[in-house]
Amino acid sequence: MRLELSGITTAYGNTVALRDVDLVVPSGRVVALLGPNGAGKTTLLSTASGLLTPRSGQVYLDRAEVTGRSPDWRVRHGMCHITEGRSVFPGMTVRDNLRLFQRPGDDSDAIERAISAFPRLGQRLNQIAGTMSGGEQQMLATSRAYAQKAPLVLLDEVSMGLAPVIVDEIFHFLKMLVAEGTSLLIVEQYVARALALADYVYLLAKGRVMFAGDPSELQGTDIFERYLGEE
Ligand code: ATP
Repeated sequence: MRLELSGITTAYGNTVALRDVDLVVPSGRVVALLGPNGAGKTTLLSTASGLLTPRSGQVYLDRAEVTGRSPDWRVRHGMCHITEGRSVFPGMTVRDNLRLFQRPGDDSDAIERAISAFPRLGQRLNQIAGTMSGGEQQMLATSRAYAQKAPLVLLDEVSMGLAPVIVDEIFHFLKMLVAEGTSLLIVEQYVARALALADYVYLLAKGRVMFAGDPSELQGTDIFERYLGEE
């Protein structure tokens, strides 16, 4: 599934977080969205998934305009947005959390698919989700992308604050999604890993696109050093 943002400006009251942003995630490709804190990355993902409405500009899915569509409509039509933070239902078991991922009309088993993505969830099915480690909760939240067979997945800093071994599992999982032909838009603090996975990269700063192109063309440039050199 192809995602396109065209001329997007999104604001919170007087704070303009995105200014006239154009971005394309071609079908089956991985796009990394990088940039310093406050650049507007989360705002861009939320505008794409319909959690925020842009002040101007359009959002397209497979070239059909969806700017006015609800987040729920976009989920039903194949978009999955894994938001920042561990969005699980902490008082429910892992199994019940996974049951909620089942899409109506889909005969494949969402629980089985989630476990094939993160086998360790299979040993935790009866555990109350909120009592698992942070890394396991993040796996549970992230497994939704695979369980739902979403053709377009937006991931916001899913490896944030996790132990290196878990970050490895998350990146292995991203490769599984890519192998299934999923289109990915990823915001990642692990810049080198994100660039290694990505087909295209966008660098956002102060709400504007500063670079769009091939990952190999970004590394080593002044713009890379200026905005991402500390990472
Ligand atoms: P980070 O890496 O810190 O998550 P980001 O690149 O995701 O940053 P955003 O969270 O999209 O950036 O924020 C972009 C701008 O919008 C920032 O100036 C931020 O202060 C502002 N902003 C974000 N959320 C809100 C909000 N709910 N209300 C007001 N301003 C906001």
